[in-house]
This record gives sequence, structure tokens and C-alpha cells, in this order.
Amino acid sequence: MSKDLNFASQAVFYDPEEHSQSISYPIYMSANFQYAGDIYDQIVDGARKEVNIYSRCGNPTEYKLEEHIAKLTGGTACLATASGMAAISHALFGILKAGDHVVADLTTYSSTHEFFDHRAQDFGLKVSLVDCTDVKAVEAAFTDKTKVLYVEAIANPTMKVPPLRALVELAHSRGIVVICDNTFASPAVCRPHDFGVDVVVESATKFIGGHNDAVGGVITLKSDILPADWVEDVRWNTLNKLGAPLSPFNAWLLLRGAQTLALRLEKQCANARALALHLEKHPKVKRVFYPGLESHPNYESAKEQLKDGGAMLSFRVADEASGVRLLKRLQLCSFAASLGGLRTTTQVPATMAFLDIPSQEREAMGVVDGLVRFSVGIEHIDDIIADVDQAIEQMHIDL
Ligand code: PLP
Repeated sequence: MSKDLNFASQAVFYDPEEHSQSISYPIYMSANFQYAGDIYDQIVDGARKEVNIYSRCGNPTEYKLEEHIAKLTGGTACLATASGMAAISHALFGILKAGDHVVADLTTYSSTHEFFDHRAQDFGLKVSLVDCTDVKAVEAAFTDKTKVLYVEAIANPTMKVPPLRALVELAHSRGIVVICDNTFASPAVCRPHDFGVDVVVESATKFIGGHNDAVGGVITLKSDILPADWVEDVRWNTLNKLGAPLSPFNAWLLLRGAQTLALRLEKQCANARALALHLEKHPKVKRVFYPGLESHPNYESAKEQLKDGGAMLSFRVADEASGVRLLKRLQLCSFAASLGGLRTTTQVPATMAFLDIPSQEREAMGVVDGLVRFSVGIEHIDDIIADVDQAIEQMHIDL
């Protein structure tokens, strides 16, 4: 029945637990499971997910989260992982082998970028970093060894929105798998599978969880290129071997958070839009990047692919020191590393998340000094704007 429900209802609803009919799904806080009855024989005969073996291989609370997220993302299967970075690395290691080539967007989350730029080469992978809003540049970067095209639905922190349908069409014509990190959008704002993306990865730590209290990641599949059992293959042959399972308690927190995803994002997107419009008129703000604004360079792609402008925005002030002073002056909004929670959190990406990337390189990515990033929360918009205004006004006063 839940297939016919609207997104907000799907987010709230899941079947109660079979034995107790508990509406809040239980936390199976168990690392180990007893081989009762004929379970030993079933495992020898090949049973894996159908039986509980050991929580590094899977846990019922984690499976419930996976079932729920597959539904919300429009995927056919889901695998939960210990973090967003574990989702990204496991998706890549689940497809790539030494000698393979990847085309990735030049602007991705700092740890993803560093993986592509440095670590990937240690495993014999070759990576080309290109601006994936430029379909011709992507086509020119493909080689006969290219196996994966990797983009972010809304890029962290430049807010670039690549044209998913055109990229998918190009990649699929050469049998290349498209992976999209949907962290900045969340399934409430974008469903990359609806545009043909094969694998969606997401830091559930952010909007899916929504409360800044649990680290986790999800991988979902909907693909004609990868086999239908790819997710189970990654669970057994990659995650189980590399060892980054989601804890049952975090699975429960993320499942609880996901139930209010639609409600939270409706409010967060409305607040972000109002703040973006306000900042666009502010004399001390040089430029605002918000996918819901007509001034956004990829506004057409954003209109097609995003249900709303999202809850993330960035803007430029004079320089990095001014940005830091601004954030230190905030009283309601928090100066913090992460994003996607109920509270407005904010950072200066160049000298926070992207600190380890040389300045010339991060400038080429668009992560310039003086760029300020906001993850807009559910507070009253008048209070957010008042807080930002007072901080901007005092931006040039030494503390
Ligand atoms: N992808 C994006 C776009 C992110 O912003 C982040 C973290 O900020 C990650 C992935 C990594 O997620 P996690 O911190 O859960 O590993």
C-alpha cells in the first residue's frame, strides 16, 4: 500500500515489527546471534540476509532502516554503512578494480575529493577531475577504461547542480555507472534515481538523521547496468570484509529521524529561500549561491531536478577573516563542522572542511576564501535573519 502514498506519508509510515506489533521498530542491540534450529544448515546452504549471523554482516534494525530508505529514494535496494564516507568508499570499491578510470566532478566534499585526488591512485585507480556541469568536458574525459562517473546532486559547498539526465544518458551510452552523492539535497529535495542515476550515496548523518546525533551512511541502487544483487554483493564481499557496519543504535536514530524528513525539509527549504533572498540584497554580501535563486548558474538543472531549493546555501564576503568573524558573532546559529540538522549550522569551508587542500587547488574548485556556508534549520526565520544581520553588521569589529 505504501507505494501509492505521497513522500511525506511514506517517510512517516513503515510496517510495525512482526512479532510484537511495536510501531517504533526495536533496537536489536546484539553483536551476536544464536544458531538456533537449522540456522547452521541454512547458512551452509548459502543463506545470508535471511538469517542473523553477526552484526558486522547485518542487523535487523539496520535492515529496517535500509528498507525504509530504499522506499524514500525510489531505489530497489539499500545498504547502510557506518558513515557517509563509508557509503562512498564501499560503493566505489564495490564497482572498481585496479586499472579502472573514474571521471569525478572537480568540486566534491573535501574527503571525497582527497580520496579521488590522492588515495585512489594507491589502489591503482585513475581519476580525472572535471567540471561536471559541462557535459562536453565530461565526454572528453571518458576513456575506454572509464567505469564510473561521480557527481554530487548539489555540490558541497559551491551549490553547483550538474545536469543529471544528460550525464546519465552520456554515461549509459558507454556502459559507465553513474554514482551521485545526494547528501546536500536529501531524498526530500532530490531523488537522483528518478533521473537514471545507478547508485546514490548519502551521508545519513545529515538530513536523513536530522538531529546531529548519529553518524551513518546509505547506498541505494536502481540500475540496468549493475546486477540486481549488487547491493548484497557489496554487503557480503566489501562491507563485511572492510568492516564498516552501521551500529544498531545509530540505525534506530536514523530511522526515527527519517520519519520527519519531509516535514523538516519543508520548513528548512522555506527558511533557506527566505535567507538567500535577504542576503542577496545585503550590501556586505558579494554573491549568494542558492539553487532556488534565478541568479544561480545552474538554475535550469535545479528547477528540473530539485523539489525545492534545498536547505543549504553559501555566500561570499570580503575575505576569510571577515567570514570567521561573522560566524563567531552568531548567537542563535551555530559555528560547526557538520550540516543537515534541526539547528542552523554554519562554516567557512576553505579553512575548515577544505583546510588540507592546497589553496590554489581549492580556488580552482570554487572553494574560495570568504565563502560562508549555511545549513538552514527550523528556527523561526525572523530570528535567523536577525542573528545573521547583527553578525554581519559587526563583521569588521575585532572581538
Ligand atoms: N558527502 C557530503 C556531500 C558531505 O558533506 C559529507 C560530510 O560532510 C560526507 C559525504 C561524509 O559524510 P560522513 O561525515 O557521514 O562520513
